[in-house]
Amino acid sequence: MVTIDLSGRHALVMGVANHRSLSWAIARCLHQAGARLCVTYASERLKSSVEELAGSLPGTLVLECDVTRDDTIDAVARRLGEEFGALEMLVHGIAFARKEDLEGAFVATPREGFQAALDVSAYSFINVTHRMLPLLEQRGASLVTLSYLAAERAVPSYNVMGSAKAVLEQSVRQLAYELGPRRIRVNAISAGPVNTLAARGIHGFTDMLKQHAERSALKRNITKEEVGQCGLFLLGDLSSGITGEVLYVDAGYRIMGW
Ligand code: NAP
Repeated sequence: MVTIDLSGRHALVMGVANHRSLSWAIARCLHQAGARLCVTYASERLKSSVEELAGSLPGTLVLECDVTRDDTIDAVARRLGEEFGALEMLVHGIAFARKEDLEGAFVATPREGFQAALDVSAYSFINVTHRMLPLLEQRGASLVTLSYLAAERAVPSYNVMGSAKAVLEQSVRQLAYELGPRRIRVNAISAGPVNTLAARGIHGFTDMLKQHAERSALKRNITKEEVGQCGLFLLGDLSSGITGEVLYVDAGYRIMGW
């Protein structure tokens, strides 16, 4: 029998907003497998609700981390150095685009909107990895970020978020190549639509869910738990030979020709 035992390992899970967050679904699976967790949230506004949520996973450290501020990333790295000593897993579930840049014409995306989306949704993965590197290379590590089909297909309303996801997926490959010799694996999960806070910012999201369920091979939408399980697979040893990949948890939507 194959079991996933992550006891004695440590995970940093970034981007928990509430119980619907995809990174929270991964956090729960990691906790069940025995890992010690640190969960981060973006701003003071979320502090009490994320602390309450994390209370359901005993032993979990909860820290603030706004990825537009290097000092907060470094503060997390310092604290994890003290508390964990090493980091074997990193989950990046962070994305942001200004509302107006997800509504108007993509061709008219202003520079500030483009930069903000790319900074938070793609550059942050590279930057966080860099700043956590001393912890990640201690024992080797597995990193997972969350992407979406708009990285490679034109999806209405995704606009600049599609650009950010394309950069994110390229970064997965480049980081996997560069960090492989240090025993660090880097992969992405490309998830089908799930009703979360971030997803609700996409114009027409409810229609997307309906269309996805109709057109996917499995004729349904995915659950956040399925993303959690895939995260567990990619972060643990069962996927030890896999790096630089984008794994689709989309109920077979992408394979279809219509
Ligand atoms: P979510 O719960 O809203 O998570 C997004 C997280 O990003 C939030 O915790 C948000 O915090 C955080 N964030 C935004 N700006 C930040 C910053 N400057 N510093 C730190 N954190 C910041 O939504 P989600 O759907 O789970 O999103 C997680 C990831 O999955 C995203 O990369 C998203 O693109 C991806 N994804 C989602 C779907 C879907 O359908 N839900 C499908 C494919 C991929 P605030 O709430 O404070 O802004």
